[in-house]
Amino acid sequence: MNASGLSPDQVTLQARARELAAGPVAKRAAEVDRSEQYPWDNVDLLKDARLLGMTIPTQYGGQGKGWLDAVLAIEALSAACAVTGRIAVETNMGAISAVMAYGSEEQKKMAADMVLSGDKPAICITEPDAGSDAGGMTTRADKKGNRYVINGRKHWITGGGVSRLHLIFAKVYDEEGTFEGIGGFLAIRDETKGLKIAKREPTMGLRGIPEAVIDFEDMDVPPSSLLIPPRGLKKGFADLMTAYNSQRVGAATVALGIAEGAYQLALDWSEKRHQFGRPINEFQGLQWKLADMSIKLSAAQALVYNAARSGEGGFPDMLLAAQAKVFTSESAIQVVNEALQFFGARGYSRELPLERMARDVRMFTIGGGTAEVLRNVVAGALLKKKLPQTRDGWAKD
Ligand SMILES: Cc1cc2nc3c(=O)[nH]c(=O)nc-3n(C[C@H](O)[C@H](O)[C@H](O)COP(=O)(O)OP(=O)(O)OC[C@H]3O[C@@H](n4cnc5c(N)ncnc54)[C@H](O)[C@@H]3O)c2cc1C
Repeated sequence: MNASGLSPDQVTLQARARELAAGPVAKRAAEVDRSEQYPWDNVDLLKDARLLGMTIPTQYGGQGKGWLDAVLAIEALSAACAVTGRIAVETNMGAISAVMAYGSEEQKKMAADMVLSGDKPAICITEPDAGSDAGGMTTRADKKGNRYVINGRKHWITGGGVSRLHLIFAKVYDEEGTFEGIGGFLAIRDETKGLKIAKREPTMGLRGIPEAVIDFEDMDVPPSSLLIPPRGLKKGFADLMTAYNSQRVGAATVALGIAEGAYQLALDWSEKRHQFGRPINEFQGLQWKLADMSIKLSAAQALVYNAARSGEGGFPDMLLAAQAKVFTSESAIQVVNEALQFFGARGYSRELPLERMARDVRMFTIGGGTAEVLRNVVAGALLKKKLPQTRDGWAKD
């Protein structure tokens, strides 16, 4: 893809990430999928290449890079290995960016140190009975003296069992049991009693990162672990959603990278593979497929870069991030599916990466806000109103 408007530093960064992707990351991708093991060696590679924690401000040991810088690295890595691309997302966007925006000095230092030394923070929102309706969560944090006691179950938590730092969302109740709103707490696995990894989900793709059920059983934390308080200046859940726009752009970028990788494989194969005495790219039926694939990728890339650029100095714009994620995730599934078709029977084989890419890319219309729910976000932004989804008109706030 042509990436226009990049600075010389960004071109260098992109080249560094592409080299890593085409070399050791590509070599390990099939094994990461097959073994379902978290690729700690790739984490070390990212660390050495300074692609972990790039967006962390310099005063906390990072490089103070922007979202577009992170996007360029994630895009390149995901073309070779989506799992590694996701690690780059979650060490530059999402929970870590929420800590950097809303955390105390102590919290920022702790999170920055952890990420820069290779931890991929986990963000815990979704519950078995509260998915798209995240506000319907039942995990609760009860204030008891000078502590909060957290109880509940989260599921589909990316990194559950490998991540150490967790950002956990819960309904906060004061000493009298009065609901104060949704807050976010930081906790470190293995250092916080009551945080239990209950089960690993058997996933269709992206198998190198565990998706886990996590139980909080009387998990006792001090008020200093509260990152996003439920009330006051920081509006709690609303702040999380603002920070989450960076994660959405990151997720869209992984989908884009996978599709670009698949497209390139199909393009190359279309020259090599001969049928009827000619390369298959001489058939107009396939030429038009290549044309459509490239149009989708160029449009998706423009949306993703634009959303990333909108966030410089803050977080990406909610509308642009949602538009980018919906379009890119859906287009990427189509592009990968078409790319697989170029290979005929070989595309269906586990010896080639296409079937892995098809499994991996399928996730991105689901995780981080489904395509349907993000269409609600887009419509709400266009109509400039909250669009209630409950039968009672979502009267409560
Ligand atoms: C690989 C993966 C990784 C994930 N990682 C994390 C993570 O790290 N942390 C975390 O907290 N969560 C994570 N999730 C969970 C993810 O955010 C949820 O799956 C998602 O928000 C949807 O919730 P649900 O699965 O319960 O689907 P549901 O909410 O049950 O939705 C079912 C269907 O109904 C549709 N739907 C629901 N409400 C509406 C509506 N109002 N309008 C139109 N359609 C609607 C949905 O789009 C969907 O098609 C992950 C999920 C996956 C697959």
